[in-house]
Amino acid sequence: SVSQHANNVALIDHSSSYTYGQLYSVARKLSRRLVPLCQQQQKSTDDTLDKTSVQLGVLCPNDASFIVAMWASWMVGATVVPLSLQHPPASLAYFLNDAKCRGVIVGDDRGNDLMKTTLENNSQIDIPVVNINKKNLSTKVTPEDINDDLLLSTTIDRSERSNALIIYTSGTSGKPKGCVLTFDAVQAHVDSMVKAWRWTKDDVILHVLPLHHVHGLINALLTPLFIGARIIMLPHFDASKSWEHLVQPGFDKHITVFTAVPTIYSKLIYDYDAKLVSRPQTRDFVREQCSQMIRLMMCGSAALPESIYRRWYEISGHSLLERYGMTECGMALTNPLDGERIPGTVGRPMPGVVVRIVRENTMSPTGYETLVEADSDNTKVEIKNTDEPIEGELLIQSPTLFKEYWRKRNETRATFTVDGSFFKTGDICRYDPEKNVFSIRGRQSMDIIKRAGYKISALDIERILLEHKDILECSVVGIDDSALGQKIVAIIVPKSLNNITNLTIDTIRQYSKQYLPNYSLPDSIIIIDHIPRNAMGKVNKKELARLAV
Ligand code: ATP
Ligand code: MG
Repeated sequence: SVSQHANNVALIDHSSSYTYGQLYSVARKLSRRLVPLCQQQQKSTDDTLDKTSVQLGVLCPNDASFIVAMWASWMVGATVVPLSLQHPPASLAYFLNDAKCRGVIVGDDRGNDLMKTTLENNSQIDIPVVNINKKNLSTKVTPEDINDDLLLSTTIDRSERSNALIIYTSGTSGKPKGCVLTFDAVQAHVDSMVKAWRWTKDDVILHVLPLHHVHGLINALLTPLFIGARIIMLPHFDASKSWEHLVQPGFDKHITVFTAVPTIYSKLIYDYDAKLVSRPQTRDFVREQCSQMIRLMMCGSAALPESIYRRWYEISGHSLLERYGMTECGMALTNPLDGERIPGTVGRPMPGVVVRIVRENTMSPTGYETLVEADSDNTKVEIKNTDEPIEGELLIQSPTLFKEYWRKRNETRATFTVDGSFFKTGDICRYDPEKNVFSIRGRQSMDIIKRAGYKISALDIERILLEHKDILECSVVGIDDSALGQKIVAIIVPKSLNNITNLTIDTIRQYSKQYLPNYSLPDSIIIIDHIPRNAMGKVNKKELARLAV
């Protein structure tokens, strides 16, 4: 409830500080401008379209305008489609068209210009652009504005499974798919994270992530907003600015929570090494500030290399809490808040989540055989009788699950089990009965290499290569091969061009032999200067593999 936290600071962005009351009353004012966009009935013969729902695109920078735009859209009952200023006009056109947005809210000139080009280049999209400018954002709040809270609960139809968000997947393995998330699912997701990571209204999070994906939007923005905590938001990730915030109080409250993707931690480490490593006093100060003032540092969205986990511990005194999630299901597995965090693993199910590891079995009516089933409090554990680690596809059942892929009925049906009870992630997961933890082996479609009859996880090889003193980044892909089925190609970014002669297929195989079985050694390597990644730091290996053939 807004009125409960009305006078607390909700957000500090690059230009100002806002209480919950201020954001709320600005959103109320904006919502009145949105009403006309939502009133007309949808005229369409498209039978995949839910004609009762209204979608609005939010193309705002990482500041107060984004929150206000989202909130105002919800007040008028619209579904929010978060968009990014990093998207080129062609991608924006795809999202706006696919989501059938009735309008777009922009928060600055960049958004305005981008929409102008998008509409000019795509005449089939003819929708209004609503501007929020600086003036709109600075408003005095009256007590009536805040007590108007009632309106929030009456205009948002929370009783039904109404749509809150359509979030597009990261597009790592193909064209992004729109995931429809209901208010119930978002609330369940927030509740689960509050419980697992013990969020309170006294927390202060440093926010450096894009807002059009789950990690930046739900984990790092909606969770603190829903419980009345504070967000310090950077306009975009910047290593030295982030360090300033992580170690300097500056405001009346210090950061207590930080969450990021592996590539961000790696950039923070790089920046630290470039500037601070030779200054022992500063090093001590950094470690002290991080370990005493910050209670939780998390990592997810892609596998966290152990080298980053270890180096981060040296620098900050924090064992990064790695967790696993997806747009479709939210956070599903997490290392513990209390207790041992094991690098290379993603711990156990989040509160409310049931996971299964399954193996295909055409004889079974479900089409698969369950090897492990587990939930967060160990009330539901079922393990096939074995001491060996168990591996197979990860399935998920949870109140946080998406409703459907937007206007993709067949894809939606295909991604659930035959009886519709579990969501199939497409990720391969391992359960270790001894340690009672799960680890992600990668995507069935891109990371599991089938070479000479063995199923090899590309992530295992990447982890080893990243420990090599001359390797900065790498990505391992499987390439079709007539003799082996697939061969293993390691695409490598050297730390410095001076060491490049040390990096040959022979030296790499020699090195890897110490840690990997013979059948997992790279068959060839390719040296490049950087690995192309999307907004969440993930690699499209299908595209990358084209380099290797
Ligand atoms: P698309 O579905 O469009 O290909 P995407 O799957 O990358 O894109 P997201 O929903 O943002 O889109 O990402 C979910 C995926 O990210 C998971 O299926 C998993 O492969 C990967 N992932 C997330 N967290 C982790 C983690 N801790 N370790 C390894 N992989 C992870
Ligand atoms: Mg996916």
